[in-house]
Amino acid sequence: MTKHAEKYYHKQMDRDAGLTHKKHRTKIVATVGPACDTYDKLLELVKAGVNIFRLNFSHGSHEDKAKIIEDIRRINKTEPFNIAIIGDLQGPKLRVGEIEAGEIQIEPGDIITFTNEKVLGTKERIYVSYPDLHADVTVGHTILINDGKLEVKVKKILKNNDVQVEVTMGGALASNKGINLPDTKISLPALTKKDLEDLDFIIEQKLDWVALSFVRSVKDIEILRNKLEKKKSKTKIIAKIEKPEALDNLRDIIVESDAIMIARGDLGVELPVEKVPLLQKQIIRKCLHRAKPVIVATQMMESMIEMNKPNRSEITDVANAVVEGADAVMLSGETATGRHPALVVETMCKIIMEVEKTDYNYNREDELAPQTHSPSFHSDAICYNACKLAKDVNADAIIGMTQSGYTGFVLSSYRPKAPLYIFTKERSLVNQLTLSWGVRAFYYDEEESLDDIFADQIDILKQRKFIRQGEIVVSTGSTPVSQHLPTNIIKITKVK
Ligand code: PEP
Repeated sequence: MTKHAEKYYHKQMDRDAGLTHKKHRTKIVATVGPACDTYDKLLELVKAGVNIFRLNFSHGSHEDKAKIIEDIRRINKTEPFNIAIIGDLQGPKLRVGEIEAGEIQIEPGDIITFTNEKVLGTKERIYVSYPDLHADVTVGHTILINDGKLEVKVKKILKNNDVQVEVTMGGALASNKGINLPDTKISLPALTKKDLEDLDFIIEQKLDWVALSFVRSVKDIEILRNKLEKKKSKTKIIAKIEKPEALDNLRDIIVESDAIMIARGDLGVELPVEKVPLLQKQIIRKCLHRAKPVIVATQMMESMIEMNKPNRSEITDVANAVVEGADAVMLSGETATGRHPALVVETMCKIIMEVEKTDYNYNREDELAPQTHSPSFHSDAICYNACKLAKDVNADAIIGMTQSGYTGFVLSSYRPKAPLYIFTKERSLVNQLTLSWGVRAFYYDEEESLDDIFADQIDILKQRKFIRQGEIVVSTGSTPVSQHLPTNIIKITKVK
């Protein structure tokens, strides 16, 4: 055993021994809610296959979230996992206010006034949490309520800035339901007052990822990035794609963000819902080209909120997301409020692993050849060829090293069949890289010769039973070690 491997062996071997228990390479994100918010239930979900927990800041208090964060961190300390946490900001989500008796029935042809005055909602007048509604909408614009189940059209802007609407699709309207304005460019800021308070909490708690809802342009990402940088936060940014405007600026948003979430819930309300499947494919493809992790979210196993088995179309949906190349698939209500949180995760994990037994989502090098004009062309070419080489020699492992995360994300984007192990001396990356397809990350901070480092890393993986004597490893790194250059070396080793 090399001297450093011994050091890391003693520190972490027992933790990592269990890491092999689930081998799905497409990661699972689970939303935390009342159905799974205790230590034991969170641990049960992790054992069932969850890699990342999502805290939805549209619900619950900071106090409740602090307790959940503490529990997840305790799981990471005492069990062999590097579970990441996403703080999902509510963003400029519009809602109706409280409704009389909790719910009213609205019918096509009904005329209702939307107001910014905090009234108890009736069939005549309803509070809407958007002071500039009158300024942003014009007569004829559609307003959708409760995920598009109810629809009204703007009829008149009144002198007192209230907005009169006519119901075109009726039904039950309950308190606090969300509103979408598919025809309107909303003038609300990317980060509301509530988001700024939640962001402070996310930064304080050092969450791994922050998700920004209703991203419209790359400026929204820059504003958030600025706020994180000002506080020297290492939290990385996920842009949620759910607005038509984001699709017009998709390339730039992907470039500026650290990861993307295809938020199919609101996306399917803001756009004709039949457009969502192909958009999903296109967004995943673009993310793979930029080596940005991409999460497919919402209604993946929706029927399991109640039932103990998913329906056939849900199984196909999860399998297709894996085939298309998603880094992660997400559960929302299924784990947050559903009846069978652990069973949903287990079932999702089985679907993923069934696809991953085949060759459908591996070896994407041919579609993702490094671009000569890219500033990272040379290190991209090393990663690309490391994955090609691993395929050619039927390698048992690929090892990468990263300080920014980039090599980890790029190696992952080629979807190599050989297991991918990333070593980093940047502690925050160990959990952050969990979101990336197939990546298992390790803390490692030695900086001696590259020969020693490569030998050490192989030794560490061998001690933890990820690789065995006689197996073939493709290692990547950079030399001279002291200069911390982008990845510039590939080596093949037969494990002794
Ligand atoms: C979505 O709309 O699909 C989504 C993930 O966002 P949220 O659950 O925050 O509404």
